[in-house]
This record gives sequence, structure tokens and C-alpha cells, in this order.
Amino acid sequence: MPIHEHWHAAAAAKGFEITCRVDDRYHLMLRCEACGQEHRSKLHVLMTSQPLCPHCMDARWRADAEAAGLVWLGRDPEDRHYGFYQAPCGHGLRRQFELVKRIAAGECAHRCERCQNEKEEAEAKARGWSLIGPAPGRGPNYRVYRHSCGHEQAIARANMQSGRFNCASCGEGWSTAPSFIYCMCFALPGLAPLVKLGFSRNPDSRLHWQLKRSPDLSGHILRSVPIRNGHTAQSLEKKMHAALRRNHRDSVIPPERYRPWLRVKSEIYAAGLQPVILKLLDDLDTGLRATD
Ligand SMILES: [Zn+2]
Ligand SMILES: [Zn+2]
Ligand SMILES: [Zn+2]
Repeated sequence: MPIHEHWHAAAAAKGFEITCRVDDRYHLMLRCEACGQEHRSKLHVLMTSQPLCPHCMDARWRADAEAAGLVWLGRDPEDRHYGFYQAPCGHGLRRQFELVKRIAAGECAHRCERCQNEKEEAEAKARGWSLIGPAPGRGPNYRVYRHSCGHEQAIARANMQSGRFNCASCGEGWSTAPSFIYCMCFALPGLAPLVKLGFSRNPDSRLHWQLKRSPDLSGHILRSVPIRNGHTAQSLEKKMHAALRRNHRDSVIPPERYRPWLRVKSEIYAAGLQPVILKLLDDLDTGLRATD
């Protein structure tokens, strides 16, 4: 089959060279000037638009993947905007090319759904629940979980993490479980020493896994008093805060000062209140022992 001169000219103008015609009168092989590799193209595409070299595109997707910290596995035959990638965790991801470019440019980070899911399943399991899936109509912060009693319930993920919820069917949860009222102290960069009064089922995990935004921040538990259940702990703690705010207004620290270091919005006081708070806890402890 002949190759017409004006086809050669069109190919050259678009960065290709026609090496031969193939299959039928509608197809030919184009050699890319940039990479030297050939691909099969429709004559119609060559004459009416810009042919794209699949080898160059593949190299570009591979480079984008590498820049985004991913391994390029190939394009998605079902959708020309998507490719398959391997994440650093080893899981396979299906992602839009544009998104991978944005990750490579540092505009956003990638997140592996399967790792995320495993993490959320583990959080639920640690509290005797299993993760069922998203909670339609409750927004992105909620999931449906199933309790070990069999009851299914929509719960905010943050509550699953902190444990501050109850099973609506069997009533088991933070309000019925044994709890503590604690006093913690913090020495945060650039701030005078601080104390925190609060309640938790597990003050140690509250301090290290929830409150501190970074593990190297200095903070420790000064005292914790065991309380029958979370409900009682919460109401006692609320009364103590009300009294502290009423009698020691100047010791209440504005949250914007400690927000960069601690994940909490209130309940933080100047360390000068430490003896007052410890005395409250002592009295609480003796009072509770007396009534036990
Ligand atoms: Zn090429
Ligand atoms: Zn993963
Ligand atoms: Zn239950």
C-alpha cells in the first residue's frame, strides 16, 4: 500500500514518521521522534488531530507515579483517566492521573483505603465492635459498627477512638465502665507549666494517644482517682471545673495558647492551681472511700 507524500508531511509536522501501513487501509505505524518507538495509529487520527505516543505517555505516568512515591502498574483499560499504582504499604490503588500529578506536586497526599479500613477495623475491635461500613445520611465522620452483642449502630469515628459512647441495645460503654478523674501536668515549648483536670477510662492512653499532638511533648499524670463509672466521673469532673472556673478565673488558660500542642479545647489551668486540684482529688478519694 502506498504512503502518500502529504501523509508524510502531516506526520513530520506532528513529531512522527510513518514507517508502514498495517492491517487495512485505515491504519499505519508511526514512529515517535521523541522516544523512537512505534505505535499503530488510525490514518484519520494522524490527518485530523495530534496522535499521542503511548510509550511517551506511559513514561510520563511512570514518572508522575515515582514523583508521587507510587509504583506505576499500568493504565485502567476501563477508564482512560485512571491508572493502577502500588502504594508504599504494598496495596494496589486505582487513581486518576490528575490526582497523582497533584500528589507529585505536593498539593495533596495519597491515602490507601485498605490501610485506612484496617486501621478503623482495629480501632473498633479494640472496643469490642466491628466495622460494618459507611453510615449513609450521617456524614463522612460516622460509620456503622456492630457490637459484640449483635447490635448495629452509627457512631462517629472520633467517639469510637475515644470510647465515649454506649451501645444503645445493651448499654455497655463509657458511662457504665469504670473510670478515673485525673490531674496531669504539661511543660510545653514556650509556655509556663500547665495542669489539666479530666476524666477518662484510661488516663495513660488519653495522655499519650489523644491529648499530645507529638510524642516528645513533656506531660505526665500526677494523680488519678478511680471512679465507679464514666457517668459519675463526668458529672463529678464537671462540678470540679465549674468550681475552679468560678474561684480561680485568672488561672484558666485560653485554648489558643496550647492548641498547637494539645488536642483539647478547655480544662487547662496554670500550674499554680496544681495544689488546689490535687487537694480536690484527695478529698474526692477520701470521700469515695468513706462511702464505699
Ligand atoms: Zn514516544
Ligand atoms: Zn495500604
Ligand atoms: Zn451491645
